[in-house]
Amino acid sequence: MGQSRVVVIGGGNAGLCSALAALEGGAEVTLLEAAPEPERGGNSGFTAGAMRFAYDGREDIVQLVPDLSEDQLARTDFGSYPKEQFFDDMARVTQYRCDPDLVDLLVTRSFDTLKWMREKGVRFLPIYGRQAFQVDGKFTFWGGLTLETNGGGPGLVDSLFNAFESAGGKVFYGHRAVGLTEDGGKVTGVVVRTGGEIRTISADAVVLACGGFQANAEWRTRYLGPGWEFAKVRGTQFDVGDGHRMALEIGAMSWGNWSGCHAVGWDSNAPAFGDRVVGDGFQKHSYPFGIIVNSRGERFVDEGADFRNYTYAKYGQEVLRQPGQVAWQVFDSKVTHLLRDEYRIRQVTKIVAPTLEELVRRMDGIDAGQFLRTVHEYNEAVDQSVPFNPNVKDGRSTSGLPVPKSNWANTLDSPPYEAYAVTCGITFTFGGLKIDTSARVIDVTGEPIPGLYACGEIVGGLFYFNYPGGSGLTAGSVFGRIAGSAASAAVGRSAASSVSA
Ligand SMILES: Cc1cc2nc3c(=O)[nH]c(=O)nc-3n(C[C@H](O)[C@H](O)[C@H](O)COP(=O)(O)OP(=O)(O)OC[C@H]3O[C@@H](n4cnc5c(N)ncnc54)[C@H](O)[C@@H]3O)c2cc1C
Repeated sequence: MGQSRVVVIGGGNAGLCSALAALEGGAEVTLLEAAPEPERGGNSGFTAGAMRFAYDGREDIVQLVPDLSEDQLARTDFGSYPKEQFFDDMARVTQYRCDPDLVDLLVTRSFDTLKWMREKGVRFLPIYGRQAFQVDGKFTFWGGLTLETNGGGPGLVDSLFNAFESAGGKVFYGHRAVGLTEDGGKVTGVVVRTGGEIRTISADAVVLACGGFQANAEWRTRYLGPGWEFAKVRGTQFDVGDGHRMALEIGAMSWGNWSGCHAVGWDSNAPAFGDRVVGDGFQKHSYPFGIIVNSRGERFVDEGADFRNYTYAKYGQEVLRQPGQVAWQVFDSKVTHLLRDEYRIRQVTKIVAPTLEELVRRMDGIDAGQFLRTVHEYNEAVDQSVPFNPNVKDGRSTSGLPVPKSNWANTLDSPPYEAYAVTCGITFTFGGLKIDTSARVIDVTGEPIPGLYACGEIVGGLFYFNYPGGSGLTAGSVFGRIAGSAASAAVGRSAASSVSA
């Protein structure tokens, strides 16, 4: 392998965007990927490709999806998602802890970055199935999350790899970065383990884009807390915190919500790591229309506290806290037509019964008597005078329950009944490295570490406690693009200064 100027560690969405931007900046770019080629793409490859971005209305959507037909346009209300609202959503769900400078970049560069991705060959589609409901024959988008990549995560990753390789980028699979080399305080290369050998690859700049530490059971237990070793990993097994460790070893500042993560309700019989065929199909995100009970037969969260986009990422850990790390989502026939497509996959842990008594008899390990009391008390508490409307926070709520349900509270009284067993599926960890607005990694003294950049899940300071759905890919793209441009510009500068020296 010849000498590389910019080395990107990690071939997920963030790494690929940084690699493309570095190429665009004129650098020679090498991408190191720990996974073998068939397992490439990281967590990004497991996603549905939903991307949150600020837009002012239909004209902006048409710029990203120019092939929408007149008929589709006539039948769709895309609404808008102004920058202020994206900013507010980030602030609100992170309890005002997110770094305002980073969020400002995320929000203000989001639309432009998606346009840039389109130029690179990524194609977008409206998320009709999951983020819109039909009102008077018109699809109405409701959650600020309107487009997904064509082909979902695999489509996204394939388009980015194609763009990178056809523009002359080099990818080395099965190359796990294990350390960084330095000279005089500047990062000069990457130590790599590959095929049983250790090699050093020199670089003028290194971009860390190797994900969070969610696939590392020991680190999960150490940083997120006891019990987290029982979580199932929704995505790749390769994101084990290597980038965090390598950077901390050379003095990077740890930053953000190290005890926090994105974790969702996930089929209780899903495998330990993500399954490429099922993708995100193990998630179960329609709980706002039903109730969730634990094995004591009790409800433990407000299922209707907010739209799914603003609660799903924090409810996984609520399930982890329940006995046996299991819970049941229960629905009746009034709402089953609203359940997302993931409820209809073949690999689902589901019970259907004509009565609640029969249903609970088949829900393994649950306190049946308490479950029936819980449903009875819940049914009694629903304010049926408020009409049910899945498109807005309808205020149809319960009163007098220890755990309220604030919206979409429907009684459970119309057979057949359905119950789905879920556990906690961890998506990615929030704690990471401190970066500045050029994606330079900051050290413990507050100074940038020369030659070191970071993007994607490894960045700390963006997400705390919770997360607005679809922000992870956008953050990876925005900061990936910034990191790649900054790294190539710095390489250009150092090359110029070494010529003149
Ligand atoms: C099931 C699922 C569904 C999701 N759905 C969405 C969604 O619809 N929208 C959204 O915005 N977000 C979604 N997310 C979150 C999203 O996947 C992440 O926020 C985003 O993909 C992170 O991108 P990344 O490039 O930082 O990490 P990754 O995509 O995980 O890429 C990191 C890469 O680094 C490699 N790597 C790790 N260590 C090393 C090493 N030492 N050396 C070399 N390579 C290494 C890994 O193999 C991997 O390829 C979802 C996640 C999952 C798991």
